[in-house]
Amino acid sequence: MNYQLPKLSYKYSDLEPFFDTKTMEIHHTKHHQNYINATNLILEKNNIKNIKINELLLKLDNLSISSKQKKLLRNNAGGHANHSFFWKILKKDTKPNKIILNILKDNFSNLENFKKIFEKKALNFFGSGWIWLVKKNNLLKIITTKNQDNPIMNQINNKSLEYPIIGLDLWEHAYYLKYQNQRFLYLKSFWHVLNWDKVLSLFLK
Ligand code: MN
Repeated sequence: MNYQLPKLSYKYSDLEPFFDTKTMEIHHTKHHQNYINATNLILEKNNIKNIKINELLLKLDNLSISSKQKKLLRNNAGGHANHSFFWKILKKDTKPNKIILNILKDNFSNLENFKKIFEKKALNFFGSGWIWLVKKNNLLKIITTKNQDNPIMNQINNKSLEYPIIGLDLWEHAYYLKYQNQRFLYLKSFWHVLNWDKVLSLFLK
């Protein structure tokens, strides 16, 4: 067995009322688990072992497996990496400290403007995917990726990598039970459960 479902450092109910218990439970134990199961199956089939998930994503294009398997692996290994990241940046009621506020000021004028740009981009993103705040050469930018693509994919020959600092799941399964078609309410709720302490440590890394 290669990858396993990571344990969360909080209870499914800890992010209420912003991210609801039922969604958190299904998202973690069903959706994330399915990405892991499918990834493990492909890796076993192709005799790929002992590789860290980010390393796998970086190597994806260079693996000697069929393009069909590669596509499956891209979606599922991406799903595993993205969700593992996502759980780690969630915690209720943290606040951005001075360092983070200054970084956001340098890149987006201020915190409120950053949130506005992030929300607008997330709202206008069509279909299933993710929105990210990424760090590239000490600069921050907001990007979106479709399906389960991840900012570090396809960057093996690119010297200046983009590292995720914030990532938000824009698939309907992440919010439909509570917010239905109202993605905007889900975006607003995200700011209450974003772990700014983790964001800072990711930026400084
Ligand atoms: Mn998801």
